[in-house]
Amino acid sequence: MGSAFSVGHGFSHGFELSDQKKRVVGCMGDSTFFHTGINSLTEVAYNGSNTICVILDNRITGMTGHQENPGTGYNIKGEPATLIDIETVVKALGIKNVRTVNPLDLKVMKETLDWAYAIEDEPSVIITKWPCVLKKFSKEDKEEFDLDMTPCAVDTEVCIGCKKCLSTGCPALRFDNEAKKSGISETDCVGCTVCMQVCPVHAIYKKGDK
Ligand code: SF4
Ligand code: SF4
Repeated sequence: MGSAFSVGHGFSHGFELSDQKKRVVGCMGDSTFFHTGINSLTEVAYNGSNTICVILDNRITGMTGHQENPGTGYNIKGEPATLIDIETVVKALGIKNVRTVNPLDLKVMKETLDWAYAIEDEPSVIITKWPCVLKKFSKEDKEEFDLDMTPCAVDTEVCIGCKKCLSTGCPALRFDNEAKKSGISETDCVGCTVCMQVCPVHAIYKKGDK
């Protein structure tokens, strides 16, 4: 609950003092950032470490039941409220290296992590911004994000049974051990396309595209 960045900061300094040249990545959600993560990031900025701080901004409070938070633009009663922009807060704390990215785009995510790892003497912050698929989307969510939840499917003629898609950990994916092919539960899939991006033979497609 907010300590990921300050604990990461401590570990970063610990590694600096040892001969282990390791980098530390700390992660927390958007509501946790507002809860106590701001203090934690202040520690990283003020006392200086090269910690990579990742704020998982899913536009809602995921852990405790989808309450609004200062970043959603609504108060606890669901009434419009001041929206506190995370990137603006992070920059106000003096962090110079900040990027906000779509976490569903794996190429961009990898490039962004590579960018952060390359910054060896300063802290960096990555804000991964995409609404939780379980939330009731606000009108702002619908305006800002392309929320196409058309499910995906596997073309079993093309699938080579490599199981790379299963490595995403998505519960909508199935593997038929007899046929040695993957499959997707249409009712569970939210069409995020992450499995499509890892399939080496392009066997996965959005329903309606074939
Ligand atoms: S598109 Fe997303 S939700 Fe659907 S099966 Fe693939 S990883 Fe899971
Ligand atoms: S990654 Fe593609 S080829 Fe490999 S099992 Fe999944 S759908 Fe089949």
